[in-house]
Amino acid sequence: MGKLYVVGIGPGGLEHMTVKARQVIEESEIIVGYTKYIELIKSLIKGKEIFSTGMMKEEERCRAALRLSKDKVVSIISTGDAGIYGMAGLVLEMRKDEQVEVVPGVTASSAAASVLGAPIMHDSCNISLSDLMTPYELIKKRVEMAAQGDFVITLYNPKSKGRPYYLKESIEIIKRYRKGHTPVAIVKNALREGQKQQLFTLDSFDDSDADMLSVVIIGNSQSFVRNGIFITPRGYKL
Ligand code: SAH
Repeated sequence: MGKLYVVGIGPGGLEHMTVKARQVIEESEIIVGYTKYIELIKSLIKGKEIFSTGMMKEEERCRAALRLSKDKVVSIISTGDAGIYGMAGLVLEMRKDEQVEVVPGVTASSAAASVLGAPIMHDSCNISLSDLMTPYELIKKRVEMAAQGDFVITLYNPKSKGRPYYLKESIEIIKRYRKGHTPVAIVKNALREGQKQQLFTLDSFDDSDADMLSVVIIGNSQSFVRNGIFITPRGYKL
């Protein structure tokens, strides 16, 4: 009897993977994942059978993982948390009677927040600017509602060559609801090789360095930067 683990491997640096994620990967006979993510954990999976595919092959990957898990222990991996823009949903939607366990991981928003200080200390939300499966009109509506609701916002998939203006347009929407001095940060490759962070305000925001390896965090009405540290207060009276 096999089993399928849907594993969030964290932001990339192996020390940021959970102990459980590491255990199930070690236990697995087969590892399934996007080629670039397999690369991130290659030192852990020597000698294992690997099933990797390029981007946009998610369904194929899930189908293979489910089929292989009928009689083998298999891990299908996502970066960050498998349940946040990862593989967990699709696997569970496609599953019939296979045994599946979801293993959580540190998502990009938490990883980036730790690099910056404590920007998502209060109510927050994640919005992906990818329109591959969500119409742009709906994305913009969510950005607007989140801005109006004063949520700290983490933008995933902030900018790609195919949609270079979505990030700028989202920032313009948010500006209608927040002051120009509101902190905004781009964190690229959080907690993995190549980490780079930049701090701006809504008024000074420059999206040149944002890409698909970054998240953008926009503070709420109370957020501030002190000595280079981005903080959203929880509300304690100091
Ligand atoms: N399941 C992942 C998200 C996958 S969507 C998670 O929970 O983190 C892919 C997007 O996540 C990227 O375009 C980028 O916006 C973000 N991302 C993933 N890892 C990141 C990292 N280490 N640093 C910055 N952004 C990251």
